[in-house]
Amino acid sequence: FYEQPEDASVSLKVVSPNVQYTDTHIFANFVYNNATVIKKGRTLEVFPTETKYQFKTELNVPKVGLMIVGWGGNNGSTLTASIVANRGNITWRTKEGIKSPNYFGSVVQASTLKLGVDAKGKDVYIPFSQILPMVHPNDFVLGGWDISSLNLAQSMERAKVLDYNLQCQVAPELEKMTPLPSIYYPDFIAANQSDRADNLISGNNKKEHLEQIRKDIREFKAVNQLDKVIVVWSANTERYSEIIPGVNDTADNLLKSVNQSHPEIAPSTIFALACILEKTPFINGSPQNTFVPGCIQLAERERVYIAGDDFKSGQTKVKSVLVDFLVNAGIKPVGITSYNHLGNNDGKNLSAPQQFRSKEISKSNVVDDMVSANQILYQPGEHPDHGDSKRALDEYVSEIFMGGKNTISLYNTCEDSLLAAPLILDLAIIAELMTRIQYRVGENEEFAPFNAILSILSFMLKAPLVPTGTPVVNALSKQRMAMENFFRACVGLAPQNEMLLEHKTA
Ligand code: NAD
Repeated sequence: FYEQPEDASVSLKVVSPNVQYTDTHIFANFVYNNATVIKKGRTLEVFPTETKYQFKTELNVPKVGLMIVGWGGNNGSTLTASIVANRGNITWRTKEGIKSPNYFGSVVQASTLKLGVDAKGKDVYIPFSQILPMVHPNDFVLGGWDISSLNLAQSMERAKVLDYNLQCQVAPELEKMTPLPSIYYPDFIAANQSDRADNLISGNNKKEHLEQIRKDIREFKAVNQLDKVIVVWSANTERYSEIIPGVNDTADNLLKSVNQSHPEIAPSTIFALACILEKTPFINGSPQNTFVPGCIQLAERERVYIAGDDFKSGQTKVKSVLVDFLVNAGIKPVGITSYNHLGNNDGKNLSAPQQFRSKEISKSNVVDDMVSANQILYQPGEHPDHGDSKRALDEYVSEIFMGGKNTISLYNTCEDSLLAAPLILDLAIIAELMTRIQYRVGENEEFAPFNAILSILSFMLKAPLVPTGTPVVNALSKQRMAMENFFRACVGLAPQNEMLLEHKTA
């Protein structure tokens, strides 16, 4: 049902005095209920609050380009081949029989949300993609950059992800796609990547590099007659950039440092800056700190959406579910021991200590919010111990009733890129949708875009970037609820609650 776009075309209309449709927009009034808590002596006084928002969503789905940095990598080539297969409904034969293309693993394309109940009290669900008009992945115009010159058919073959029979069928189309030359500063990625770096923008002038990437985006837009472009970094993990006062701490210092070709400016930061200056949303799928403070400041100043860091695919996704479950069940995880066998070229790049450090940092904070929300189990500052030892499994050791221990061992095997590629789609689709939604608080205010840092994309990200001073949420169910309830609010529906009162009061 969700695999074929033409079959999934239910249309949604919310009938309510709080919702107004025009030819071009939907306007929805929404009351946001929260509470302010004040501690008075030994009493917590809770004051429920109400804020009235109005959301305005543009209904017209534009023509969108998706440009991937690292297009010729495992993720980039797998995503491209899969979209080509989905577009042409290309089936392929394996030893298990005929397989058909799908978008499994994409929240937008392959999950549903509950709208309400029908006349008989039965739940009614719609595909996530139907809550508001969104770009369909088949309609993305694909492009991007890579430091390797292989065309997409060759890089798909190099990646060894998709079945051979499928590769043979999509190769003729993928052969026509070649990545644009990219920026390569050898200091930022592992030395073992140098043998594939044969497709480079020449020179060492970072200002010229920035201008070239800006030009690439503009040209891609013009040639393909696009309304918008979204850029996703799926290139190698870089080392961390040092934050140096006067160099990358403010937007102006950062732009000045680019003009001076300062050595501490990473390729990914050049891409982010180019996107911000071209008013193009930029998402960082790797763990490094692309978004140095100056870059965040520029995005806020230019009001362009950015999001990151690091795709949340296999192991981390499970962690952000399992620890949430344990802590909410009143069970106390005391140790998490993980072993991550990194395959393919990503693993090769991460075998260098500096690049691995970026990964370690992005993985280390994943359970913090869940642990700190439960002060019965954890003292302030207390954490499960990640330890130094490595295992071939993930082990979650928890303290249970009366000093007992519970150990859960998980073994996770899959093709990483088949988990990451659908996340790239969700990130791009929701980022695009967010560019069409605005809000206001008072009736007389102007509608405005949201904070430049798109924390609504956290579900797909391992180390979610959030606006300064706001809480990071890692728990997967909360992240999904935030997305779902936000889009419900945009069509005038109350947040989803699982009370099922209609069934409990009969
Ligand atoms: P990959 O090594 O196969 O692909 C990376 C591509 O980036 C390569 O083709 C390389 O030539 C290119 N590249 C390197 N530097 C570049 C630059 N400056 N400009 C343009 N291209 C450049 O890796 P992958 O498996 O596709 O993963 C991509 C990134 O996503 C990695 O950083 C990885 O850590 C991150 N990631 C992947 C997953 C996953 O599940 N696959 C999960 C989280 C994060």
